[in-house]
Amino acid sequence: MKNFPRILFLDVLKEDELLVRKKFPEAKIVNHALSDDEIVKAGADTEILCISYRCKLDKEAIAGLKNLKLIVTRSVGYDHIDLVATRERKISVCNVPDYGAHVISEFVFALLLSGLRQVPSGNVQVENSKAFSSKGLRGIALKGKTLGLVGTGKIGANVARIASLGFLMNVIAYDPKPDQELARANHFRYTRLETIWKNSDIISLHCPLLPTTKHIVNAKSISLMKKGVVIINTSRGGIIDAKALVKAIKNKKVSHAFLDVLEHENDLTQERELINLPQVIVTPHIAFFADDSMGKMYESAITSIKAFLNKKPPLGLISGV
Ligand code: NAD
Repeated sequence: MKNFPRILFLDVLKEDELLVRKKFPEAKIVNHALSDDEIVKAGADTEILCISYRCKLDKEAIAGLKNLKLIVTRSVGYDHIDLVATRERKISVCNVPDYGAHVISEFVFALLLSGLRQVPSGNVQVENSKAFSSKGLRGIALKGKTLGLVGTGKIGANVARIASLGFLMNVIAYDPKPDQELARANHFRYTRLETIWKNSDIISLHCPLLPTTKHIVNAKSISLMKKGVVIINTSRGGIIDAKALVKAIKNKKVSHAFLDVLEHENDLTQERELINLPQVIVTPHIAFFADDSMGKMYESAITSIKAFLNKKPPLGLISGV
């Protein structure tokens, strides 16, 4: 017997399953991410598909999902979905526009402080040595340093406020859509992108992955940067040209890179050289993953699906109706 509508949730952790089950008892739930081929197999009759950023929906996968009407991604970024293909098929696409920008912003400082103040290396040293020694662990302070932000949306603006008011940093930012009121409220100053590269001691990336932002950090932009610059990426891996970054770290142009995202998160062999550099800290895309954020992320996705079913405009509509 056919149940309407057919809803498929992918990459739902066991601990979040009940939340989904309560709202959509009939939904099919898979506890891990699937490859594009597997998605087509699992979702042959699916009308509503709810995914994480780890499920890539390319042209072929979308073509294979013949009954699909709505995709909801439980993420801010939607670069993993081919929007040209969804538009052709008139499939609506929603994201979760904000499940707590503070969670990602806090993580930026977790990376920055732990890296610059040698927290992981200090811990390793204490665990592995009999001496309680500070040798090799001199840190770098934040106060007075210039932080350059690329993107001043929900996360970038939050990072600016914490940096300027909390750490007394000088914050400059680039965004193609500057908002002077936002800058005043969050204590930063807009500047040109080139000035971000040239004047920043620390650069933090907060723009979406778009054709215009892919490899925006590359050999050319790195060549403009200060010697010893620190780069933080909690946005999307594809924003950095990893080969150029490896080279710049090896020749000491870039002193540290703190990365929560990589271009090839599904194939770490391609990233191994970068990951294994001692000046690099990599975390497995966990900036969003905290007590505050996960519930809100599911609530927002569920609200979008319910609105769509009730023929109302769904929350976070990126494309479609
Ligand atoms: P947002 O949509 O609120 O802000 C994005 C900002 O980037 C906007 O102000 C936009 O004008 C700006 N922008 C667009 N093109 C740009 C360019 N060429 N140069 C500079 N800025 C540009 O998004 P947000 O909530 O602040 O999130 C930012 C990004 O962080 C998301 O797109 C997503 O990829 C990433 N993210 C990562 C995690 C994680 O767990 N690591 C979690 C959430 C979001």
